[in-house]
Amino acid sequence: MEATPLAFADRASAALDDPVLQTALAGIRTGWVAGRQRAAERLPEFEALRDLGRDIKDHTLACLDLYLEAFEANVTACGGTVHWARDAAEARVLVLELCRAAGARTVTKSKSMISEEIGLNPFLEAHGIVPVETDLGEYILQIAGQPPSHIVGPAIHMTKDAVADLFARHHGGERRETAADLVAEARRILRERYLAADVGITGANFLVAETGSVVTVTNEGNAELTQGLPRTHIVIASLEKLVPTMADAFTLLRLLARSATGQEFSAYTTVLTGPKRPGDRDGPEAFHVVLLDNGRTQMLGSELRAMLRCIRCGACMNHCPVYLAAGGHAYGWVYPGPMGSVLTPQLVGIERAWPLPNASTFCGRCEEVCPVRIPLPGLMRFWREEQFRRRLVPPTARHGLKLWGFLARRPVLYRLVTGIAARLLAKLARGGRLAKLPLAEGWTATRDLPAPQGRTFMSQWRARGGHR
Ligand code: SF4
Repeated sequence: MEATPLAFADRASAALDDPVLQTALAGIRTGWVAGRQRAAERLPEFEALRDLGRDIKDHTLACLDLYLEAFEANVTACGGTVHWARDAAEARVLVLELCRAAGARTVTKSKSMISEEIGLNPFLEAHGIVPVETDLGEYILQIAGQPPSHIVGPAIHMTKDAVADLFARHHGGERRETAADLVAEARRILRERYLAADVGITGANFLVAETGSVVTVTNEGNAELTQGLPRTHIVIASLEKLVPTMADAFTLLRLLARSATGQEFSAYTTVLTGPKRPGDRDGPEAFHVVLLDNGRTQMLGSELRAMLRCIRCGACMNHCPVYLAAGGHAYGWVYPGPMGSVLTPQLVGIERAWPLPNASTFCGRCEEVCPVRIPLPGLMRFWREEQFRRRLVPPTARHGLKLWGFLARRPVLYRLVTGIAARLLAKLARGGRLAKLPLAEGWTATRDLPAPQGRTFMSQWRARGGHR
């Protein structure tokens, strides 16, 4: 998906008025949120595991150059090839060249957010290669012509009935009514595509430096068929997917499914190391890994470094009141929710993505549930400060903040002004509430502002002797 101008507020308003979307989003609370809670309670060492997950990722990032070199050496030793892509354009061209070298007309793909990030599908289509998504959610979206709205459940915004209508329109034939029949229909169609594919493209949940292995997890087994059936397998992954050892990968796997869907482990976990060897009954003849940077090394040396710990579990969005009200499409790009509000400004520029770090109540739930303890509110605050520094904040807010900063550094003046303001606002109020407040229409357009009741906190504090 190409980046589009990010009009978050308009899309969020439309989402709030969409009853189908609201029903679908409510299912996240009762499903994944409750599931994560139960999974965490069942595992006594869950919190200690989170510390360990954070430490593994921090150590890897501190020595990333060494582990990247080790990974490349081990992939090569196993008969595969690593290709380095500085940005999305380079990655797209590399994948296209590999597909052409394999004589590919059809490629199967398992779910990959990196493929969304680099806009791979439209690029392959424009060059005469047909990409077929094999993850059920991604397949639904591909035929619906929609982008994903969640990094784990890409079609979470769609109901069963909407999918039944879509399949009947797209596949023809009888309309299926049950989820099992819809899944069976998709499976029948995708089986033929697997057999016709010349190349399989997958993402990676982890890349293991010590063995050159690629670890994928799915609940449908589609990554296994995508990487195992065609003659050529291409993995596209970003640099931060690396972990030093297989033991590290499995420590993080213990966190991943629990944090994502509340499962102890996903249904399929596959470790793939190199192409088919003599004597192997199946597997690809050629094995390529395209390693994407796309701004990650820049993040490594910046205040955003902790974001590179992300293992893409989706827990932050599942627990975010803004995501749960507005849905993923409101964010306007590949990564929604709190992690997207940090990552998207880095990838498309804060000038285009400035509404996203503001799409947060700063309630802190995202940080509370993140399995690798990423300080997401702090990173969103970093972008808000950048936004202020680059003068992307509307003039009224900018001048208001400057004025507040001026007063906050002068306590006597601050007490005087806030005392006058509190009395003035109390006089303007009707029934203890302000229906309209100049310079604060963003608040009063949708709800009344409670008027100050009496004296300021500081004058009450002093009256009670708190200053002593
Ligand atoms: S930021 Fe944390 S909670 Fe959100 S997707 Fe990444 S690892 Fe999961």
